[in-house]
Amino acid sequence: MPYTDDLEFEAFIHQLPKTETHLHMEGACPFELLQAMDPKKYANPPAFWDDDFRYESFDQFMEWYAEYCSTFFTSAQRYHDGMKIVLGNCAAQGCRYVETSFHLPVLLGIEDSGPTLLDAVRSAAPEGLELRIFAGMCHDDYRDEGIDLIEESLTWDGLDGLDLHGPEYLPLEPWTADVWGRARQAGKFTKAHAGEFMGADFIDVVLDKLKVTRIEHGVRAIENPVTVQRLVDEKIALDVCPISNLKLAVKGVASMSAHPIRQLYDSGVIVTINSDDPFFFGNRLSEEYFALKQDLGFSKKELAQVACNGFQIALIDEIQRNAYESELNDYLTDFELN
Ligand SMILES: [Zn+2]
Repeated sequence: MPYTDDLEFEAFIHQLPKTETHLHMEGACPFELLQAMDPKKYANPPAFWDDDFRYESFDQFMEWYAEYCSTFFTSAQRYHDGMKIVLGNCAAQGCRYVETSFHLPVLLGIEDSGPTLLDAVRSAAPEGLELRIFAGMCHDDYRDEGIDLIEESLTWDGLDGLDLHGPEYLPLEPWTADVWGRARQAGKFTKAHAGEFMGADFIDVVLDKLKVTRIEHGVRAIENPVTVQRLVDEKIALDVCPISNLKLAVKGVASMSAHPIRQLYDSGVIVTINSDDPFFFGNRLSEEYFALKQDLGFSKKELAQVACNGFQIALIDEIQRNAYESELNDYLTDFELN
């Protein structure tokens, strides 16, 4: 990415204590593991890593998801191997806390159980990195053998929460609100993707029906000031992924300088920034921060607030939250913030 012209700023971001709360395991597949699996197919870096690359549609993105990454994740061990590198990279970029999801229906096609996969991923986290694991599922996954799997997942101790993902334009089926409610009763945290490929109306539907307090993306809230105000009033946080939005040509994101995160932030919406599917966007978390500075005029102080938002929404107790915030504040005392 072209966001590395200012070495002092780069160092500031690199060491800034931060979080990653929107990261799909399959979409984060490390390139070196794909190369080891199939040296011929992965001889060259993929074209979609180019800065100017834009996906034609979300359907194209989903097709490539199946073609590239799904072929790798065939066992709990593969998840462990992949996440060891991914989470190591997160820690190396100053992440203290990570929320990551896996696509739950993958378990229908592999031999390992959910709890085995969860243990495998958890044991991949480097020391000192706080990890929360989510099961992701699409709007239409609650059918056939998917029903038992989703129901079973609510009983897994090692699972921290559920996330609704996949094509947003598929109808929101009635099972979702019921499962999301029962998941919370079972002690799981719930969130949902919305406002990426559907407009502000869908964000309202998800908030009303699923009762989530975190929205993945949510950037198209900007299309309706009433929805934006609702996010502020109800303290709904958006886990935003600016480079992903740009490369997927999300409506309203024709360029990074047009990204609505500036307006959302200025309106008082709680936003975090995240990398989403780094394999498919060729991005690193720190580049999301660079982009906000260079193209959207975020100051160091504002970026520190964005990082702080991640700790404020993290699924941790108040003692740990205070410890992270103290660490962040101590770090910031070394810099002129304005
Ligand atoms: Zn996502």
